[in-house]
This record gives sequence, structure tokens and C-alpha cells, in this order.
Amino acid sequence: MTIKLAQTEPQKENQVEQNSLTTNTQVGVSKANLNGGEVALVGSGPGDAELLTIRALRFIQQADITIYDRLVSDEILALLPEGSEKLYVGKEQAKHCVPQDKINQLLVDQAKLGKRVLRLKGGDPFIFGRGGEEAEYLLENGVSCHICPGITAASGCTTYAGIPLTHRGVAQGCTFITGHIQNNGQLNLPWQSLSSASQTVVFYMGINTLPKITEQLISHGRAANTPAALIRRGTQPEQQVYRGTLENLEQLVIEHKITPPTLIVIGEVVNQLTEQTLSTPGFLQASEYQLGKEVLIKAEA
Ligand code: SAH
Repeated sequence: MTIKLAQTEPQKENQVEQNSLTTNTQVGVSKANLNGGEVALVGSGPGDAELLTIRALRFIQQADITIYDRLVSDEILALLPEGSEKLYVGKEQAKHCVPQDKINQLLVDQAKLGKRVLRLKGGDPFIFGRGGEEAEYLLENGVSCHICPGITAASGCTTYAGIPLTHRGVAQGCTFITGHIQNNGQLNLPWQSLSSASQTVVFYMGINTLPKITEQLISHGRAANTPAALIRRGTQPEQQVYRGTLENLEQLVIEHKITPPTLIVIGEVVNQLTEQTLSTPGFLQASEYQLGKEVLIKAEA
């Protein structure tokens, strides 16, 4: 994929290249100027490079050194400037590759060497991404930092799976919550409020605690047959989507040997548009939709 950003010249009509994202800076001057000695804390979205923001792409193109996590996709890493330094500091569940305090210090040290430092994170840096802690540490140590949101997994993965997070008359709200066990080894969550039928609940990092999650939601009153989905590596070429119900989700995990990074989505919206896995992630085919409805009508007749 080619992604180009025109710097000054406004795009002439009919000049848009196929397969390229082209923009210009007609509206003011770009604010995404990364200077030596600064850090850009950037969200790279859930994986598909086409979901990067233009601001994120501008920072990516200026990096002298990139310090990145496990959830940053190869497709996005391929956009980093040729010859620039790349440092992987990813973590896998409890196995921390580089501890968080070392990452914080690394960012400060690299910036103080006068480099343009890109801190690239999956999704949004401020949603279960420890971006707030990194920004705090940088500022405390006299390093300025640009911050750039990314599409968070809950939004990108569900949309690419054909699941609207809210839907009028079906889900009036949506909660993003972590299923990661707390330091005391417990998973203490506000189960009562998570069990209300009128909302969608999206669990990040919940695959290992799934039995506890489903058991608690059901025992706090969420119907066992509530539609639910598992989305693994959402928006990426290997995206997998499994639909089921609250009570058979764990079975799906075992059957399909589902591992992180996986998102858990619970709520009536899961089957709102389709009960199928989309043949092209992010593309709803009209004929398949009509077919689904006919099957439904026949079944009800
Ligand atoms: N800052 C990130 C979240 C990091 S927490 C964001 O805003 O998206 C890591 C968890 O996010 C994973 O365990 C998984 O539950 C979820 N996740 C991130 N990217 C994902 C993807 N492409 N597909 C499925 N789940 C993903």
C-alpha cells in the first residue's frame, strides 16, 4: 500500500491516485511537527494501516527512532522511515519484555539525545495503553510530547466485524472495560452495572478471565443467551470473528484455541447487521444481508 501526503500543493481534480491516501495542508499549517528532543505519543489503531489518522502518519514519517509495542501491525511498521531506528518493547500478558519504568526512562533518554522520538502504540494510547503514565513521566523529566489518538480496538474491530456498538432501541450505551486481573489477583468489576441489558460491553484483555466474566454477568442478571462475539486480530488480514452467546463463549475459545489479542463483545448489537463473518472485513454485502433476512423470515414463519 502507498500512503502519500502532499505537503503544499492542493490536489488538482482527477489527480487522485488509485490505492493512495492523498491529502493536502490547505487548512492551516500541519501541527504535527516533531522536533528533535520531543516525543510523539501516537496511537496506531487496531492494525489496518488505512485506519491511521493523518496526524499519526505525519509523525510516523518524521521519526528518528520508534519505540513500539506488540500490537502495532507489520503493515504500519512498514511505513516508518527507511533507515530509522526501531526498538520493540512489547509485552505479552504477564511476560513484560521491557518493564514499564524502563520504557519511560528510555523515552526520556532518547529524547535527551536530541532525537525525534516516536512512541507508537496499538489502538489509542490513552485507552488501556499506559499512555497517560508515559506522558506524565516525560513531562516530569522536562520532555515535551505530542499526543495523537488512534482508533481503539473496541471501535475498529467491532466496525470491521459488522457490529454497531450502539443501535437505537437496542443499546443505548457502551462500556469499555478491562478483563485483566488486578494486582491482588482478583477481577473486581462493577458486575451489576455491566449486566444491564440495554448496553454493549466490550472487554479488553479478557480472554484469560473469560469464564469468570461470563459467570459473573449471568449471575448478576444478564441473560445467558445474550449475543456475544470474539474478535481476534481485528481489522488485520488474519481477522477472526466468532459469534455465540454469553453461555457458550468459553466453548468457542476452547474449540478454536483463541488467544490474545482478542476482544470480547457482549450485547444484542452483535447480530444486529449480520450473523455471519463478513467475507471482507469492514464490508457489508447487500446480497448477503438480504439472504440473511430471508432465512430469518422463513424460520419465523
Ligand atoms: N490501547 C489499545 C488497547 C491495549 S490493551 C487500544 O486502544 O486498542 C490490549 C488488548 O486490546 C488486547 O488484549 C485485546 O483485547 C485488545 N486489542 C487490541 N488490538 C486488537 C485487535 N486488533 N484485535 C482484537 N483485539 C485487540
